[in-house]
Amino acid sequence: MTNGPLSVNDSRIDSVVPDPVSTQPARPVMLITGGSRGIGAAVALAACATYDLAISHTGRTPVDALVDQLVAGGAGVLSLVADVGDEHQVVDSFRQIDQRFGRFDVLVNNAGIAGGYGELSTVTAEMLARLFAINVTGAFICAREAAARMSTSHGGHGGSIVNISSKAAVLGGSHEWVHYAASKGAIDTMTTGLSKELAPQGIRVNAVRPGLITTDFHLHATPGRVERMAPLIPLMRAGTADEVASAVLWLASSEASYVTGAFVDVTGGR
Ligand code: NAP
Repeated sequence: MTNGPLSVNDSRIDSVVPDPVSTQPARPVMLITGGSRGIGAAVALAACATYDLAISHTGRTPVDALVDQLVAGGAGVLSLVADVGDEHQVVDSFRQIDQRFGRFDVLVNNAGIAGGYGELSTVTAEMLARLFAINVTGAFICAREAAARMSTSHGGHGGSIVNISSKAAVLGGSHEWVHYAASKGAIDTMTTGLSKELAPQGIRVNAVRPGLITTDFHLHATPGRVERMAPLIPLMRAGTADEVASAVLWLASSEASYVTGAFVDVTGGR
């Protein structure tokens, strides 16, 4: 048996018996927005041996099986149905995390949408409003609430924010989704700015920029996008959500204690 992180279909978790009345000290708590599937679910599965977890999502995707896997992997789990683009729902989510766990250590700003697939002529104000509400405003409000709990000046003990950006922020998304790439550009700027603003509060802020990763995200694009683009990548394949999760877990951990304001590209060289 290997000791690597758990994956969605990992049979190792069947043999792990969770201890419902743990005598261990409180585990660190991680919130993963968009934790129901794709990259967010992979982060949760990689984190469940170390962290108690809150996963937020829209309620569209059944999460019972995932939650069972996370509990079997050792985590206390809070599943939150909350639109990350709605400030009140985000604030309420953090209140629920306070009540359930009583501490906060890591925010993974992962929830995101493409907002549409097409050139500039397809872009509308309504599309942009929803896209930026979820991808940018949501990330900001989550960071605000997380920082209020982790800041040493507010009685917290520091912590970490990992933003899921995209290599599209650098490449621009031309002919496909410049609007989406621009929302991730905002996340990159936010990462740089907050890393400096929150460093004195003991909070590290970093970003992972995934490249072409096999998830449902590409269902927003034309069929076969992943297969079409994979040969163009230096490593000549799409990446997996688990490969992104490894970078997220490293940035969140004390192994990265001197890393802030950094961008980790998980792109196969693209
Ligand atoms: P995905 O498979 O489409 O999953 C998206 C996740 O976000 C789901 O958990 C979804 O929840 C959640 N979500 C969407 N809208 C939400 C809202 N309004 N409120 C709360 N949660 C919401 O996408 P993914 O590939 O895992 O993407 C995760 C992140 O990685 C995104 O920020 C994306 O931009 C970024 N990224 C992905 C790639 C890639 O190639 N896949 C590349 C670069 C960056 P429901 O299940 O409830 O819908």
